[in-house]
Amino acid sequence: MKLFQYIRDIIAPQKCYACRREGHFFCPECRTDFSCYDPFCYVCKKASTWFLLHEKCNTSGSLSKVIVYGKYNRTILQKLISDGKYYGKKEVFQDLGRELGRFLSLHHYLQEFDDYIVISVPMHFLRRWKRGYNQSDILTKEIAESLGLRCSTNIIMRRRYTKQQSHLWRSERLQNLAGAFGVKKDDIKYIKNKNIILVDDVVSTGSTLREVASVLKLYGAKEIIGLVVASD
Ligand SMILES: [Zn+2]
Ligand SMILES: [Zn+2]
Repeated sequence: MKLFQYIRDIIAPQKCYACRREGHFFCPECRTDFSCYDPFCYVCKKASTWFLLHEKCNTSGSLSKVIVYGKYNRTILQKLISDGKYYGKKEVFQDLGRELGRFLSLHHYLQEFDDYIVISVPMHFLRRWKRGYNQSDILTKEIAESLGLRCSTNIIMRRRYTKQQSHLWRSERLQNLAGAFGVKKDDIKYIKNKNIILVDDVVSTGSTLREVASVLKLYGAKEIIGLVVASD
């Protein structure tokens, strides 16, 4: 693996998307351009301390906050994510994962650090098979490593797409979610009474994040925080 990386770095070295300097996909000098805005609530997009959801915005009650690193419509961040997802440049997400870890510790968005487990949002298996990897898994591993936290990329299984949750009764919701996302019986112990950081690459409506968070809540998770690279 190391040899492969060495050869790859010689043939196609990583270059900063902004200034073209070699060594990173976004170098320390340029990265401040990506995350230069204040914390906000991802539902209404208005300012909010620590990225907490406003009470009126938190209808599902499953996520306490969604921490967003940067804006998707900033061209460079958008290009990085799109190259990482659609053009096989999965190393982009290793860089982004490390950056998210740095971002979290720099701004103290978590209080009791060692009490969290980092979990990735699962990808539909057909899409994963086509792409060969789930970018959220790559982000999750890098974030956990940089913060010294435990992580899991396979606790949640995605079985199918879900129906709109809001029109269903609670019992139907549980059934709907239970069918869409599952947790293996042996893995429930990793969720029960745990604080969780749920990782995805981009958030728009946030329905997937909310659905996965609801499933984690069903299995007894304590606090669940969303963490994403970008929001539109
Ligand atoms: Zn640069
Ligand atoms: Zn809000």
